Amino acid sequence: MLPKNKDKIRRILNVTKIQRIASSCIFFLTFIFFLIQWGITPLSSGTLVHAAHSAPVPVPKPIKMREWHYIVIHHSGAFSGNEATIEADHLRRGMENGMAYHFLIGNGSTGLGDGEVREGHRWKYQLPGGHCHQEFLNTYGIGICLVGNFNRKGPTPNQIKSLAALLFRLQAQFYISDENIHGHGQFYGEDSDCPGKLFPWANLWASLNKIYEFQLMSSRNEHLIQGK
Ligand SMILES: [Zn+2]
Repeated sequence: MLPKNKDKIRRILNVTKIQRIASSCIFFLTFIFFLIQWGITPLSSGTLVHAAHSAPVPVPKPIKMREWHYIVIHHSGAFSGNEATIEADHLRRGMENGMAYHFLIGNGSTGLGDGEVREGHRWKYQLPGGHCHQEFLNTYGIGICLVGNFNRKGPTPNQIKSLAALLFRLQAQFYISDENIHGHGQFYGEDSDCPGKLFPWANLWASLNKIYEFQLMSSRNEHLIQGK
């Protein structure tokens, strides 16, 4: 090949190379432009994420409270226990939503303090309970279980105090009257001795009345102070 022709070919080749580089750059810049338009930002690692301003973070829906008309009080029947042990037991018995009660009140025995109140999965997600034989009680009844066997030994004073405080809160929130609060076996058709013959009903009502009296006094005092 003649040197003259060689130069010509080289020039043509160089022009083609420049054109290729230029078109690649234009393609890349166009790609980036569209990414930005779509709200996507390339990260240095090469992954693509949505820009914070363009994609709102999904907010979890608040759980809607169910309608509750009754409160059913139970004992666990065992001297010790906590959420995990009861949850495991109820799952083993085929209850797919786990612990059948909505609340559990510990006696200080195993991992749960004396009087410590725990909300169960069924309360957090407002699911029907699995604590009664009759469906209407599981659907409309809040199940509260105190750890212990109250046929053998009564609940601790702290358990009763916590139960009274919880009843006060739930009664106010769901307008549940005293007449609709019972031990499991006191509900007609349940055929159970739960929460045990040593359950101190008189102490419970006295504790609950004390809370109501205290609240009444506090609100009266507030009115007096405001009226000054
Ligand atoms: Zn029961």
